[in-house]
Amino acid sequence: MKVAQRMEKLPPYLFLELDRIIEQQRTLGHDVINLGIGDPDLATPDYVIDALQQAARDPMNHRYPNYLGSPAFRQSVAQWYHQRFEVDLDAMTETVGLIGSKEGIAHLTWAMAGPGDVVLVPDPSYPVYATQALLAGAQVFPMPLTAERDFLPNLDAIPEEIRSKATMLWINYPNNPTGAVAGPEFFSEAVRFCRKYDILLCSDLAYAEIGYDGFKASSVLEVPGAKDIAVEFYSLSKPFNMTGWRIAAAVGNPLAVGALGTLKSNLDSGAFTAVQQAAIVALSHNPTAFFEQQNRLYQTRRDIVVNTLEALGAKIPRIHSTFYVWFPTPKGLTSSDASRLLIEEANVVVSPGSAYGAHGEGWLRISLTCPTDRLAIAMQRISEAYAHVR
Ligand SMILES: *Cc1c(COP(=O)(O)O)cnc(C)c1O
Repeated sequence: MKVAQRMEKLPPYLFLELDRIIEQQRTLGHDVINLGIGDPDLATPDYVIDALQQAARDPMNHRYPNYLGSPAFRQSVAQWYHQRFEVDLDAMTETVGLIGSKEGIAHLTWAMAGPGDVVLVPDPSYPVYATQALLAGAQVFPMPLTAERDFLPNLDAIPEEIRSKATMLWINYPNNPTGAVAGPEFFSEAVRFCRKYDILLCSDLAYAEIGYDGFKASSVLEVPGAKDIAVEFYSLSKPFNMTGWRIAAAVGNPLAVGALGTLKSNLDSGAFTAVQQAAIVALSHNPTAFFEQQNRLYQTRRDIVVNTLEALGAKIPRIHSTFYVWFPTPKGLTSSDASRLLIEEANVVVSPGSAYGAHGEGWLRISLTCPTDRLAIAMQRISEAYAHVR
């Protein structure tokens, strides 16, 4: 027996060695604090849980869901886009329900790219964009995100022959892992570029509702004409602390949304209808106050992390959104050496930047999804460990 040859295209799992060291420290009885994973420690709002409980009791919901998302769920996504971004969507042709956006990101790639195609992927980035393009047989062209350019890709630097072969371009602002945000100018530039070269612009808006210092994220679909070439992924995972629930939507260009829906109806059967009904309640319950309260908490945590790192002399790009702090490794260390050292010396896990692409080398990512008191302890330990490094 052998696995398919395409599986060889998957890069080695970078966290394997780290997992081994974490396990070793725990076996030794150390209290390991994990700041490596971006997964909210906070609870889903009560009214959403109540809605799920009620919906779960309805036998109608025990049957196969509508594969593309129930009309009511897709309507509520369209309504939310209107209310939140002033973007108008046709629920039936311009939205499709997803079992989390990771699922949609992967399957959109299979629907839109294959051998001979190029997929333009930010580096560093959420690993799914590149790994799915590789599995689908497409070529990945990395677009470096550097501090000098505020972690925005330089579209002018993409060679002409790559532009003509490109079928998809990924952007993700507010950005994981760098925490960077993009303004309307960059979104307009990306739309212009993709229109010119007939490339599907794919926007991952996973961190839409997380913002500090008054920052509020916008949708790429706010750019006039964007719908001609853009799709966007909106997930309930991060805004509503629903990562385990698996519910999101892809919206925008009807050709791409339709192709994704056709592929999905041939391979999955949609998200649990009760979860869709709870998601409708989440989106229509005027969640602004909930987001504000949550953002205040993340902001407190951001300040604890940023203040500690700055006191250690680290130069940190200001973080206005996401629950990540992206910072350079202490002098001379690679990302994986630095994160190994922090586990061994401080019993704190942070992600090595190189896990998100070659241009993440020299950086580390701290996630703020850890109870505030534990986060403060972790940062204290990191301070002490830094004293040894220098
Ligand atoms: C968390 C995350 C996702 C995954 O979201 P799900 O809807 O839970 O699948 C997608 N993209 C980015 C950049 C993320 O950080």
